Amino acid sequence: MQCLAFASRIHPQETNVRSLIQLLMRGSMAALVASNVACAQVPAANTKPNIVIVATGGTIAGAGATSANSATYQAAKVPVDKLIAGIPELNNVANVRGEQAFQIASESFTNEKLLQLGKRVSALVKDPGVDGVVITHGTDTLEETSFFLNLVVHTDKPIVVVGSMRPGTAMSADGMLNLYNAVVLAGAKSARGKGVLVAMNDDILTGRDAAKRTNIKTNAFASGWGALGMVVEGQAYWFRAPVKRHTMKSEFDIDTLTSLPEVVIVYGSGNMTPELYDAAVKSGAKAIINAGTGNGSVPNYLVDTLKRVRAGGVHVVRSSRIADGFVIRNSEQPDDQYDWVVAHDLNPQKAKILAALALTKSNSTAELQRMFWEY
Ligand code: GLU
Repeated sequence: MQCLAFASRIHPQETNVRSLIQLLMRGSMAALVASNVACAQVPAANTKPNIVIVATGGTIAGAGATSANSATYQAAKVPVDKLIAGIPELNNVANVRGEQAFQIASESFTNEKLLQLGKRVSALVKDPGVDGVVITHGTDTLEETSFFLNLVVHTDKPIVVVGSMRPGTAMSADGMLNLYNAVVLAGAKSARGKGVLVAMNDDILTGRDAAKRTNIKTNAFASGWGALGMVVEGQAYWFRAPVKRHTMKSEFDIDTLTSLPEVVIVYGSGNMTPELYDAAVKSGAKAIINAGTGNGSVPNYLVDTLKRVRAGGVHVVRSSRIADGFVIRNSEQPDDQYDWVVAHDLNPQKAKILAALALTKSNSTAELQRMFWEY
């Protein structure tokens, strides 16, 4: 019956649906059972997952002057209902409704907006009528938001963050398929309990690891540890699973958070300016992420500055400006002796998110370091 209900809405040119209708016309229930391949591929209307798309703006809601404008356009223009209406195929895989949380380019995200979004997503996943949530987002800070949600929303329901590199008005726009894949993923039982996911360019990445690696190509997102899997033709395929603490097992809870402490990143290079660290302290930073060179290295002429920063009560977290790899504790610098933290494999912007959350729980270096190992 479920196949029948679906088949009546489908274009009869689809071969397996046409043969299914022929089977039904012959009235053979045995043949209908034998046609389970077709049934498996076409979800019935009454078993489709209920997915909410929370829109925040970005290029996926962008519009350019001409179809040749793949890189020059205005982000955050198209409202969520129009995005959904532009992809009728979504109705084949889910019952979808949209909410417009923000309409901004993601570089304009603030801690307040992160908290607001997190609280809304938390409320949605508590609703028994919601099976999964998709968040459309600008790609610039998608990696921060996906990691933040991964750390603070307590649910095993899929939460999928998605963006695009080209506006919908461009030739070969990538947003439609990315959003379709995100909805498929948010409705997939196999995505439950895997933490917040990122769906970009057919890949499934963890919200923890996914990072923007190029600012111009559609394969912009990657993780140094690889993708978890792929979405192809409406089906999620998995090859790995996350091992770090997230969502249900996280000690952070969006429902009790009201603000986040200031954390500042200082970018490492040759010929550094020590006064930048003092300025960060003066601005109210409770932790400084040192985006050091190589293995989170600190130049010899900066060691005293950073020791002084720590002695003044501000935490020093050694991260690296290198996209892949991880910082090893007490290698390069004696972190135990200086009371510094290492960011493990988190890039500076992800370390900033975790440091802010960690500081809402503890001011102890040992505790902060534990959290950097565990999350
Ligand atoms: N900078 C804009 C943003 O992050 C557009 C980039 C994009 O979404 O790809 O929202």
